[in-house]
This record gives sequence, structure tokens and C-alpha cells, in this order.
Amino acid sequence: MGRHLIRARHFKNVTDTDGHHVSAGEICNVPWVAIAPVVNAIRVLEQMVPDGEHLFAATHHFGKDTGVLQAGGLNLRIKDFITWANREAAARDLTGQHIPDDPHGPMQAGRFRRTLAWHIARRPGGLVALAIQYGHMRTVLDARTSSRYGTRSRGGIHTVLDVETALAADTAARLRDRLAAGEHISGPATQRALTAAAHVPRFEGRIVPRTFVNKARAYLARDGIVLFDNPDALLICAFKRDSALCEPDPDANAPRQYDCRPGCANTVRTDTHARLLRARPDELDHLADRLPPPVGRRLRTNAGRLRAAAGTHDSTSQTAEALR
Ligand code: SF4
Repeated sequence: MGRHLIRARHFKNVTDTDGHHVSAGEICNVPWVAIAPVVNAIRVLEQMVPDGEHLFAATHHFGKDTGVLQAGGLNLRIKDFITWANREAAARDLTGQHIPDDPHGPMQAGRFRRTLAWHIARRPGGLVALAIQYGHMRTVLDARTSSRYGTRSRGGIHTVLDVETALAADTAARLRDRLAAGEHISGPATQRALTAAAHVPRFEGRIVPRTFVNKARAYLARDGIVLFDNPDALLICAFKRDSALCEPDPDANAPRQYDCRPGCANTVRTDTHARLLRARPDELDHLADRLPPPVGRRLRTNAGRLRAAAGTHDSTSQTAEALR
């Protein structure tokens, strides 16, 4: 329930009123919003180091006298983690979970960090989260601010996302799987979603040349049949610029999912979404009982809206077979 907020101290460019560097740093204005596994990992680290020490103090992780883990130490830890994960996968006969050797050499902190960034960026509003949380990079707004995404550097993560989104097409593949398993589908964009699900190949991993980014952009520009998963709004968005209620700019090729609005003509839902739509209101009601009345009322209104959306799905959805 709720969100975990992590408050941290930062040191770079922290000065007092006379412009002198403050070596003790200061608490960041914006906290990290973290998921439960991150909080659990911090709790484990807290058990490993005495109170008041850095969580990554080199003394306790490497037996060194001073300082905290540096890039070299982190790289070793990533290598150890991969070895451990593969040993566990082998011991439990989970061959699909084996982490293969990387053709580009050992995974190091820089690439690991970029991988994390990729996962954050693919969440609704994730680019904004990146702009806040990877705060030491230069924050600029590029042409894609047309989608009002905060970004870090021109062409950086967006290039990666364009390629990955175009290649992965995982939302369309997942939708195809759900329909094949007999799930019903509903929503004004159902026909476009069915077309996308029928025509998008499954992504099984491949290395692409740098020039592929142009092809990826062309793919994403196919207005109306690129599907975007929106787990926060519990729907799939078959993004069509002209009918989008989240007000994307005229040349945007992605929705502003963090501002998804009810009643949009690009919405599609499956039975899985409806099931989640019915589960979430119970959580909201539970939370509402514990909050001040004005906030509680808002949460209950929201819960009612989600129940109504689930009911609409139940009464209007059909199988893919019936729609053909
Ligand atoms: S408002 Fe419409 S276009 Fe925007 S994210 Fe929601 S469903 Fe997609």
C-alpha cells in the first residue's frame, strides 16, 4: 500500500550563503519513489553495516579502511551477482533464467545503470522520473518535449527507447497471447488493437545497427496501430494522435501516459485489466478509511470510477473470434 519514499543526502554543488562548499551535503529536495524490492535491499544493507555508516561503506563490504564502494568494487559485485543468479538457475533447473555471456564484455556499472534507466523510462511518466532521479546529468528538453517528456541529453535515452519500443512490440505480443488464451477485449480502439496484435512480430532479442533508429522512428510514426501498455491506468493505449485526450503535441509519436484521461477513444482493455480494475478499488477503500475525509472521499470516488470501468468491460467485451 502507498509509495516508499527514500530521502538522500547529496553533496555536489552544495554551498552555503557565502558560496562555500558544504562538505556535509544536504537532503535532496525531491525524494526517490521506490518499489518494495529496493526497500528490502536497503533493509538488508542496514543489517550489514553499523548504525550511522554508509550503506556501501568499503570497510564492511571489502574490508578496506575508508571510503565507500567505487566503480571497480561495484563491477565485481555485478559479476558476483550474475554468477550467483546462474548458479541458482542451474540448481533449480530454471534454464530460461540463465544470464548469458554478454557479447560486449562483462556488464559494468555504467551499462547496468543504463539498463535500469531503460526500465524506468518505459514506465508511464518514467522519463520524468529519470530527469528527477538521475539528477546529476544535464536536464534539457529536446524536440520530443513535444510529448512533454523531460529528458537528459539530446538523443540519449530517446534513441534507445525508439529502437527498443519498435523492436520489442511486447505490448502487442502480450495482447495476442491474452486473446489466444480466450480473454475478452473491449474499448473504442479494439479494432486497431486487434490489427496491431495480428501484425507485430515477437521480439526475441537482436543487436541492431545504429541506423536502425530511423526505421524504429518510422515504425512508431504509424499513427493508430502502435500499442503502449499503461499499467497505471490499467489499459492499453492504441495511440492515435488526433483522438488522444492526453493532449500530445502535433508531431508526437507516443502518448503522454502519465496524463491518461478517462473516456479516450484510444483505450483498450482485456479481462486481465478488468480483474485488476476490480482489485484496486478495494485497496483504495482500505486506504480511504485511514486518511482525512477530503482525501478519503477522493479515493472512494476513484474506486467507484474503477469499478464502473470494470463493469463496462464486462458488459461490452467480446472475444477476438467474435470480432472477426
Ligand atoms: S489519454 Fe488516450 S492517448 Fe493518452 S495515454 Fe490515455 S488512452 Fe492513450
